[in-house]
Parts: sequence; structure tokens; C-alpha cells
Amino acid sequence: MDKNATDEQIEVVEEKIRSLGWTPHEIPGSLRIAIGITGNRGVVDQSLFTNLPGVSDCIPVSKPYKLVSRDVKREDTVVHVGKLGIGDKDLVMMAGPCSVESRDQIMEVAEFVKSQGAKILRGGAYKPRTSPYSFQGLKEEGLKYLREAAEKFDLGVVTEVKDTETMSLVADYSDILQIGARNMHNFSLLEAAGRIKKPIMLKRGLAATIEEWLMAAEYIASQGNYDIILCERGIRTFETYTRNTLDLNAVPLVKHLSHLPIIVDPSHGTGSWDLVVPMALAAVAAGADGLLVEVHPHPEKALSDGKQSLRPETFAELTEKLRRIGPAFNKTYMI
Ligand code: PEP
Ligand code: MN
Repeated sequence: MDKNATDEQIEVVEEKIRSLGWTPHEIPGSLRIAIGITGNRGVVDQSLFTNLPGVSDCIPVSKPYKLVSRDVKREDTVVHVGKLGIGDKDLVMMAGPCSVESRDQIMEVAEFVKSQGAKILRGGAYKPRTSPYSFQGLKEEGLKYLREAAEKFDLGVVTEVKDTETMSLVADYSDILQIGARNMHNFSLLEAAGRIKKPIMLKRGLAATIEEWLMAAEYIASQGNYDIILCERGIRTFETYTRNTLDLNAVPLVKHLSHLPIIVDPSHGTGSWDLVVPMALAAVAAGADGLLVEVHPHPEKALSDGKQSLRPETFAELTEKLRRIGPAFNKTYMI
């Protein structure tokens, strides 16, 4: 739509789309409002819209993902969580333990990561573990500790939602819902995430191509939730010295293909704490909007992912480096 299009003109276009049996998606930007069309089978006759008042351009999108593509919206999307903007100038740090293990543990980590400039506290309460005998998370009790710690230290909360049954409970305690790598292809979970009014952080699947990942994001957007943050967390390759291969190609590529913000998780991406700092810095150089980093006060005692968790002092080294290198890549990191 023209940048001066009125609300009435937008409504006329949306009504026209509905009358054809399709769904309009209003995607606001600072330069203009785009109205995406989904539900059409085959090519849309552009002459249906070009002459409507307020319409400035009709752009056919040939990619299989549409609403999340740069073709629909040229400007970067900024996902807002309170005062925080993810995808903006500030490099957003999401940090915390792999799992919430106790009230004391999450309180201690929250206080520390806050002092180091983190804005979002992470911690799993519902854990998707490879073995059914491994620690499965504290569930609702963990969510309560996470929320309490976040409130006390003025942080947002990101935590994983594993299934549709627990989605509204997890949403009650969190600011961002994480869809984990193992669930990236869980289409009913993606659709449910698209219907909830909360930002979603969508991790890349263990063996997902970038196109499949963007299609998973499209599932969420297709249901009307456009507040999506992508998270590159490494993919499975033949390499065995690292847990995964962190695919930093994905960062500039996704920036080119999509308007969504992208953050990088060097903890799961490498599986080794000593690789986390260099890969976090490389992620910033590649253009990431933020980082997701596992931090534990005593990694040797962690109930999950201790090997890849940073000790507080190593996390402090990382944040000091981020503060210094950020400006070289047009990002600020404030401690
Ligand atoms: C996690 O963030 O702890 C997690 C399980 O991540 P992923 O889904 O990327 O393995
Ligand atoms: Mn983990």
C-alpha cells in the first residue's frame, strides 16, 4: 500500500481479498504496509488490485515461503519484547542454563547474566531429551522459578514449548516461546504458535535446509503471528569433533531471503564450551541480531549440557569482547 494509504483503503483491499476466499495478512513496516495474500491457488490476477485506491504496487512472490520473505517486506522486522527490540541496533543476549534445576540456580544465573548485559533469561523447564531416562525438566515448578528470577532482575524469559498441550501454560510464564530443533517440523505445534499472541523463537531443525526452516516460519506467520525470531543452532554433518556444525552461512543468507531477525546459538552449535566464545564473535561478524548462550555456575554439575555451558567468568570475557567488536558490525552491546 501507498505509505499514506488510509485505514479505509486498507480495509477495502482486505475485504476484496476475503471476498475471493483468500486470507489477507497486514504486515506493517515503517516505509509502507504490505498486505500479503495466502490461500490462493495459482496466480493472482493483479488487475483485481492495481486500481484500488491506496494500492501502490502488486508484487508476485514466487518463493514457497511468502509472508516471511524479503519480497513481501523489504525492511527488517524488529520483534518487540517490552522495551527491547530484537533485530534492531542492539545485540540481544539471551543467556542462562540449559535447564532450570533449582530456584537458587536460576536466581544466581539471572543475577549474573543481567550484570553482564543480558536482556533475556533462558532456561528449559520442559526438556526434549534424547533419552527418556535423562532429566526431563522441572516443568511448571521450573517455569515459576524462571519467572520469579526474571522479575527480580528485570529480564525477559525465553523457554521451550514442547507440545501443544502445554503451550498456554508455558506462554503464561514467558515472553518468548522457543520451538526447539526437534520440533521444527512439528506442524501442529507451529500452527498453534501462529495462533498465540507471543513472539516465537524458531530454532533450525537438526537436518533442516534453510528453505525448510523458512517454510516452518511461514507456518507460524500463516496463522497470523509475525513476531518470529530465527535461531541458527547448528546442523548435523559428518563431523564428530563437534556436537553440530554451526552454519554461519545461514546468517547473511537468511538476512537476504527474509526480513525476520536471526540470532545464533553457539552453545548447541558447537557442543563445547571452549568453542562458544570464538563462534559467538563470528556470529556477530556474520550479522546476527543476538546470541543464545548457555551459562551455568557449576557446569560440571549441570543436569544437561554441562559440556557446552560457560562458567560465569568465561561469559564475562565474551560480553566484554562483544562490547568491543559490536560497533564494527553496526551493533551495540552494553554491559
Ligand atoms: C535448548 O535450547 O536447550 C535446546 C534443547 O535446543 P535445541 O532445540 O537447539 O537442541
Ligand atoms: Mn541445552
